[in-house]
Amino acid sequence: MQLYKEHQIKLYNSLTGKKENFKPINEGYIGMYVCGPTVYSNVHLGNVRTFMSFDMVFRYLKHLGYKVRYVRNITDAGHLENDADVGEDKITKKARLEEIEPMEVVQRYTVDFHNVLNTFNFLPPSIEPTATGHIIEQIELISKIIENGFAYEVNGSVYFDVHKFDETNEYGKLSKRKLEDLIHNTRTLDGQSDKKNPQDFALWKKAEPQHIMRWPSPWSDGFPGWHLECTAMSTKYLGEQFDIHGGGMDLKFPHHECEIAQNEAAKGVSPVNYWMHANMLELNGQRMSKTTGNTVNPDELLSGNNKFFSKAYAPSVIRFFNAQSSYRSVLDLTDDGLLASEKGFYRLMDAVNLLDSLKASETSSIDIPAWKQRCYDAMNDDFNSPILVAHLFEAVKYINQVKEGSETLSIEDLNLLKETINNFVYDILGLENNAKSDSGTDKLSGAVDVLIRLRQDARANKDFAMSDKIRDELAAVGIQLKDGKDGTTFSVN
Ligand code: AMP
Ligand code: ZN
Repeated sequence: MQLYKEHQIKLYNSLTGKKENFKPINEGYIGMYVCGPTVYSNVHLGNVRTFMSFDMVFRYLKHLGYKVRYVRNITDAGHLENDADVGEDKITKKARLEEIEPMEVVQRYTVDFHNVLNTFNFLPPSIEPTATGHIIEQIELISKIIENGFAYEVNGSVYFDVHKFDETNEYGKLSKRKLEDLIHNTRTLDGQSDKKNPQDFALWKKAEPQHIMRWPSPWSDGFPGWHLECTAMSTKYLGEQFDIHGGGMDLKFPHHECEIAQNEAAKGVSPVNYWMHANMLELNGQRMSKTTGNTVNPDELLSGNNKFFSKAYAPSVIRFFNAQSSYRSVLDLTDDGLLASEKGFYRLMDAVNLLDSLKASETSSIDIPAWKQRCYDAMNDDFNSPILVAHLFEAVKYINQVKEGSETLSIEDLNLLKETINNFVYDILGLENNAKSDSGTDKLSGAVDVLIRLRQDARANKDFAMSDKIRDELAAVGIQLKDGKDGTTFSVN
């Protein structure tokens, strides 16, 4: 279904700083690229938040009927410890410390990443390319940038000439920085002497003799600069210009700024129409970050085995917690916040579980089509999931009112309510209904329903001794069965 024809998405574009009407390059098709993890350590919940936000975006675009090609890379080479192109390659360093092959590091943490994504019910991207799988494309790109006069070689390394580029283009347009300010604010670090200017960035680095991850190139045996892989892989799979590029806010500068510069320098066009940046997850008021060690990993939160939180939380509770704030807001991960989300999540799921037991009436006293429209309006407004969640809680109220008999729904509206809830809760927010409810009520009613059905079977077989036994033994533990014209119901004393 081409629902996108009825739904105009407004998307906040970091490049223009405005919410804009989203219009893909080719009608019905979307190319979306999101920077993936550097696989040198286990992902933390901050990383998970960013990928979760884009998983929701991917899910919603697919729901609207767009054919989305979603590319999310794996950085398995070239990411140095320091943004100023100094320090060791993160993966090589880990390999040295653990005395294993760099590719063992890559394998271990790629597997961890995929496990985490499965746990949180992520949809896989359409393509998951690796930097090491695209060395040839990166070398070609460097040659093109040199040929166009925007890069230079020194001692086997190649640097992007930011000053030259800024004469004809606008370096800093995404992060709203001016080259003069950057010049003013950059300290010259040791080891940068090869560069003409400290603002220049590496496209290719000559490998030191001890550097294991190395490839031959026209300039030296070496490895590509980190920013280059994303330009090479995004344009290879999505074209020189594509629709959406996402990543965490911290990647805006220098990473994404450099991606724009590389593409403009090589191909003469700005690569991306809509830049989306997800905001940071904090842990008790401080940015979650590998470098400061202020992190919680998914398994620590899911098992409850950590020093920050009072209990374990289910993956869907964490997804729900994330959905309760906009992807563009900073989100603080706290025990109080998670406890509140957990309560809300089970309240929602308890209501969803009641849906099949609701009885239709002749007419509706609630306007379900208008409510459905409000859910779409929320998501069309820059994927405003907290507003969507508020509308889902409106539906919780409706469900309970219909159950109690204070409001009514026609069969069409009841079906529309069910379908819309299923779409938003499961397909778009990616929540799962298998998490344990604290109240246990859904499990109890599930178990009693099983016994009611067994009793019906016994009666159908004229095994009245068994049917009475089921009724009496349930009564003995305080559960009364009541036979009515619409079947058997129960109450707990
Ligand atoms: P990295 O593996 O460090 O390249 O990070 C992978 C992704 O996680 C990037 O898009 C980062 O922007 C994102 N990220 C890192 N820290 C956080 C955080 N505290 N909150 C949200 N996203 C983060
Ligand atoms: Zn990237």
